[in-house]
Amino acid sequence: MSMQSIAWQLMSEEEYAAFMEERIEWITPRIRKTFRYNADWSHLDEWEDAVWSYAIVNQSEQHDGDLEEGVRVIATIMTDNAVNKDEIEAAFRGELVKGCSCEHDCCGHYFGGLSNVTQLSRLEWRITAAYSRNY
Ligand SMILES: [Zn+2]
Repeated sequence: MSMQSIAWQLMSEEEYAAFMEERIEWITPRIRKTFRYNADWSHLDEWEDAVWSYAIVNQSEQHDGDLEEGVRVIATIMTDNAVNKDEIEAAFRGELVKGCSCEHDCCGHYFGGLSNVTQLSRLEWRITAAYSRNY
């Protein structure tokens, strides 16, 4: 459990609300509605704003071996409203996907996206994305 989530549990609801209002940058995820294009052209698909927002509590990276093999990005987020796992997955599947449209192999670009979603508490989630290079 992170220091922040321990701190939050010690706060009253009012203190918590004030803390969240002052300190946290809220991000409204865009939900990708269609998957007609590959990751590099995904902006041409249809997107819509979610009706909830999230804040990044902390974020870290884990490398598999050296940088050329792969990287996992692990983030703890808080949502402003209770959402379910399907909604979290729908949001981050679109936001985190990476790829390229090179027509040759071994271009070295990262490929990947959302790999795991774990609910930590009512409003707190751990999001893992995994990427590996095209070699
Ligand atoms: Zn490429």
